[in-house]
Amino acid sequence: MPFTPFHFGPAAAAHAIAPKHISFLAFCSVNVLIDIEPLYFMLTDQYPLHRFLHTYLGASAAILLTLALFLAAQRLAQRIPLPNLFHWKQLTLPSVALGAALGAFSHIALDSIMHADIHPLAPFSDTNALFRVISLRALHIGCVSAGLVGAIALALRAAFRPSPGTGNANAL
Ligand SMILES: [Zn+2]
Repeated sequence: MPFTPFHFGPAAAAHAIAPKHISFLAFCSVNVLIDIEPLYFMLTDQYPLHRFLHTYLGASAAILLTLALFLAAQRLAQRIPLPNLFHWKQLTLPSVALGAALGAFSHIALDSIMHADIHPLAPFSDTNALFRVISLRALHIGCVSAGLVGAIALALRAAFRPSPGTGNANAL
């Protein structure tokens, strides 16, 4: 994606399906992490922009890095008072793992549709079967629509929640 927030649409939809089991924060974090790669190569004028992190293998490494950062933050929070931004302290490891995995692999799939310089199956293959399998307009409309549907579903869930939640009910 030229603009990482397009990936947040599918994140909202996935989180709305199972809020306690799929972390929105982890989904978005791994997407930002992966897009540091093209940003760096763009800023330093090096091509191609999409390399290791834009392969399924690299995305797997990004998932592990997201989990490592979450665990490190948890440990650090036991020693020093870290702010509980987005209720991250209520997140569970499985919800972070699932959110990061869905975020990373959907990122590669969506970017495979869009970018000509991506080799999602590298180093095993140079093929990209998803390239322009749908139009870019359809891709962007799909991402935004997923975000809208997800946001509405989350709003409805919040409105009809029987009582103020405890535990990780508010965790993103
Ligand atoms: Zn990307």
